Amino acid sequence: MTIGVAVLGSTGSIGRSSLKVLARQRERFRVVALTAFGRKEQLEAQVAAFHPAFVGLVSGDAAGGWKRGAECLVEAVTRPDVGIVINGIVGAAGLQATLAALRAGKRVALANKETLVMAGELVTRTARECGGEIVPVDSEHSAVLQCVTGRSSGVARLILTASGGPFHSWEAERVRHATVEQALNHPTWRMGRKITVDSATLANKALEVIEAHFLFGLPYERIEAVVHPQSIIHAFVEFVDGSVLAQLGFPNMELPILYALTHPERVPDDGIVRFDPIAAGPLTFEPVRTEVFPALALGMRAGRTGGSAPAVFNAANEVAVAAFLEGRAPFGRIAEVIGAVLDELVLTEVASVEAVLAADAWARRRATELLRCS
Ligand code: NAD
Ligand code: MG
Repeated sequence: MTIGVAVLGSTGSIGRSSLKVLARQRERFRVVALTAFGRKEQLEAQVAAFHPAFVGLVSGDAAGGWKRGAECLVEAVTRPDVGIVINGIVGAAGLQATLAALRAGKRVALANKETLVMAGELVTRTARECGGEIVPVDSEHSAVLQCVTGRSSGVARLILTASGGPFHSWEAERVRHATVEQALNHPTWRMGRKITVDSATLANKALEVIEAHFLFGLPYERIEAVVHPQSIIHAFVEFVDGSVLAQLGFPNMELPILYALTHPERVPDDGIVRFDPIAAGPLTFEPVRTEVFPALALGMRAGRTGGSAPAVFNAANEVAVAAFLEGRAPFGRIAEVIGAVLDELVLTEVASVEAVLAADAWARRRATELLRCS
């Protein structure tokens, strides 16, 4: 019996990598649902290759038999023939689908980290109460999961690695005026535009520290980040006796995607790029230059503050990154806007979806106003 898989955001970077894995793993998995935002032609080609029972297009004219509008996401993930949902949607738009899938008791292979940052408590509680399961796709979190699986206690500290992004050795002033083209020129990973900019500001690492806090239940003082420009080691796990385990692999998302589908089992896959220590070359580590990348400290502060602060951090970041990508704000403005919105934050609890969405909407409005004034 094969397991039915729904791929949300199938036209994106994670979605396309997922379909490559699923094409090789047809003995174990079958694609039963695909959804995308607006790239109809690309989705049509995927439909022709995988013949899913369900196809959803959020925006634009859907082809015959396809579902339209944002509701298609919930419909896709709650289908009885879906066992695993790969959530490869970018940004806050992924939240409702994650919650619906967990409520329906599905495994969510979660790439959409914004979901956990906005609503970590709500999402993890929903999984617990409804029998759903969150398995991370993010490479650092997959690495941690791989190191702790089979070891139920004794974790002392997590160290997530960061490539440092394209500006990891640049002077602060040069970073502030970096162009879109420079920000999108990531040294080690090929990803969607939003996460690539997040990697350049290091906001991505803050999002990941918050994600790790909710996934693994560790306090923030026991989760750290270190710059590792080669992106070969994805995370370290230190245990109480001082022993450290790490997971290694070339920077390619197909392995973490495969592991999220099969965890805790491992299956062979000829398509995964094999590790070669000689080709990997020297592995180096550096402290994060927090003064050059203020978005990291802002996000960590939001995480430690808790309540609505991470949702506000995430929303302000999404709005500021979109403005940068559209040429409406310089690179340095991204962190400034996040900081200004967080400074105005009136902290609230975010125990319900409505509360999360209210915090998200407030932060988007404030970030948009601040960007208009600058
Ligand atoms: P991407 O921009 O390449 O793809 C995003 C996908 O989401 C597209 O298929 C798009 O159609 C869909 N989408 C966008 N807006 C939507 C909306 N409002 N409703 C429904 N669908 C929508 O992004 P990506 O790089 O694949 O990243 C996806 C997620 O995975 C992000 O949360 C990112 O942080 C995370 N992630 C990505 C990578 C990577 O290597 N790309 C690694 C780790 C984590
Ligand atoms: Mg990552």
